Order: sequence, then C-alpha cells, then structure tokens
Amino acid sequence: MPFSDFVGNPETVHRLREMMAHNRLPHAVVLSGAHGSGKYTLALMLARALNCLEPPADGLPDFCGRCSNCTRIAQAEDLDARVAEAVDARENLRETEKKETRIFVQTHPDVLVIPPDPPQLMIKVDQVRHVIATIYYRPGEARERVYIFTDSVFMKEAANSLLKVLEEPPEFATIFLLTENPGELLPTIRSRAMTFALGPLASAEIEALLAKRRPEWNPRQRALVAGLSEGAVGRAVSFDLETYTAARSHALVLLNSALRGSDHSQLFKTTETYRPGADGREKTDVLLRTLYSLLEDMLFLQSGTAQLVRNTDIMGELRKMADAADFAWIQRASEGLGEVERGMRRNLLRSLSLDAFATALERVS
Ligand SMILES: [Zn+2]
Repeated sequence: MPFSDFVGNPETVHRLREMMAHNRLPHAVVLSGAHGSGKYTLALMLARALNCLEPPADGLPDFCGRCSNCTRIAQAEDLDARVAEAVDARENLRETEKKETRIFVQTHPDVLVIPPDPPQLMIKVDQVRHVIATIYYRPGEARERVYIFTDSVFMKEAANSLLKVLEEPPEFATIFLLTENPGELLPTIRSRAMTFALGPLASAEIEALLAKRRPEWNPRQRALVAGLSEGAVGRAVSFDLETYTAARSHALVLLNSALRGSDHSQLFKTTETYRPGADGREKTDVLLRTLYSLLEDMLFLQSGTAQLVRNTDIMGELRKMADAADFAWIQRASEGLGEVERGMRRNLLRSLSLDAFATALERVS
C-alpha cells in the first residue's frame, strides 16, 4: 500500500485521501512544510492515486505503483535529477530558443511538474501560460490532469495569470502548490486553494527511520542528524554526514582559535583550504551554516536550554566553548559571520575573510 510508505503526518495524509474518496479534493491544494518535509513526495503520491489504473479495491484511495500511469509518474520522483536534465537540454539550445524555453519536468502526458526557472529560481509567466494552454483539454491517459508547482515563488505576472486559472479551474484538473511559507502566496491565491501543512516529526521518529534507511550510522550519528534536520524526513535521509562533519571540524578550529587566540598555524592551515571558484563557494556556504549552528548551540547552553542543542555528539566540547565565551562574544561572532557572507558576495578571498573573522574576535575578547 504505497501511501503507507509516506513517513509522518498521518492525519494530513488521511484527510487528503478521505477528500479524494468523496470526490471532494479541491482543484487547488497548497502543501506547506519545511524543506525536506515530504511535500513533493506526497504530491506525486496523490497524482498517482488520482490516476492509478489498478487501484487497490478496499480502503481509502491508494495506488498500485505498477500500472503505466503509476510508473510514468514515479519517474519524476528524483526531482533534482529531472530538473538538471531539463536545464542541460536548454543549455544546448541556440541562443534565441534558449530565451524562450522554460523548465518543466514531464514524465506523463497529463502530469506536469513546474519547478522555479533558473537562474532566478522563480516561477515565470511563460510557465503559467503553458499551464493555461493545456489545462482546459481533457486528460488523454489519466483521469485527472495534475500540475505541481514545486516551489510557489511566483513572479508577479505569473501569480496574476495563475489566479485566472484558479478562478475557473476545469473539473478534471488538480493544481498542487508546494511552499515552505504559505504566507508568501498572494492572499487571493490562498483563498482559492485549501492548505494542508506537513509538520516536523519528533526526533525519536526520525532516528527510528534512520536506523532502517541509514544503517551505517551509529545511534549517536542518527541523533545528530535527527537534530540537524529539524524534523524534516527528506533532509534526514539524504543528509551528507561526511561533508557536515568535515565542515564542523573546520568550524571548531575557527571558533577555538578565536576563543583561545594563541597559535595561528592550525587556523591558517584550515582557512587556506577555502579556495576561489564554485567548489570553494559551496564549501564556504556549508562552513558558514555550520558556524551559525555551533554559535546557536553555544547560546542554548548559556541560556540553560541544553535540550535544544543540535550538535549533541560534541556536547562536552560545546560546553567548554560556551563557558569560554559570553553572550556579547557570540553576538559579535554572528555579526562577523554576516561580514564574511557580504565579503563572499563581493568576491573577497575566502581564506582571508575567514582569517579576519577569527582574529577579529580574538582581539576584542
Ligand atoms: Zn497504478
């Protein structure tokens, strides 16, 4: 029973399936939830349940996962890979065609996935026009035309165009609008849709899931990943623990060097690995996010809310750091990180920005 594969938020899933059973699923459904909370997974499951050719006979609507509709829709599951293919295909077009081509993912003739169009990563008016151009035709191989906006960040004109469809949707189409923040949608769009929220899962639930899906991790690592993914299943199961751990050991070198302010050789050895170019940028982004999360954990320890600490596997070291720093130091460190981020945007040399970050904190402490 494939809906049973969906992890978490059973009430929401149940409600959606019940509405479907009574033919009451709205034409526009907003699925809201954090990054990695399962919005896209659920939308694709609903698309299959709406169109499965051999649905299980008993119970609430479900899908077989084997018929030609189910299997073709499932090909869109790896969204990142499908979007990358579409972007590559566009890159290979002639300049004039490139400008007019918008990014879509379509693995079934009646199911269209609409991701934000790069490089601006917003839904553009031409993408919505394509929806309008197709939505009023009866589906060919499915019962229901399905449109999935994978992230509802609409350019203004695009939002206005979408509104027109939502005012008069055909009876055989369902539009899913996925969003991390429903407040970003136009109120006029929200009022024409029904919103279903996917909330965060408890850490224990995520840890239990990781025990099955990532058996190579030990319980300490599973607890760490559960904390860092903030209740989002998708983030937890795809978590790159190796990259994170490497970034964190660098972040600890920077913070400890700033707190102790003695020998700089380890600091410089670390920061010089942050090179210019795209790889260096990504590595620096991960480092900065990790630095923020460590500073936040230090604040939790200082304010007596140790239960909120996410880097639980290095609690001892965090306590030592929290004891050595005070609130003002942590605040200066956060501001310093802001400086580094602005420097990155001005293309300052990363290693120098990071050295300046660590040594500036040391001088005033
Ligand atoms: Zn099926």
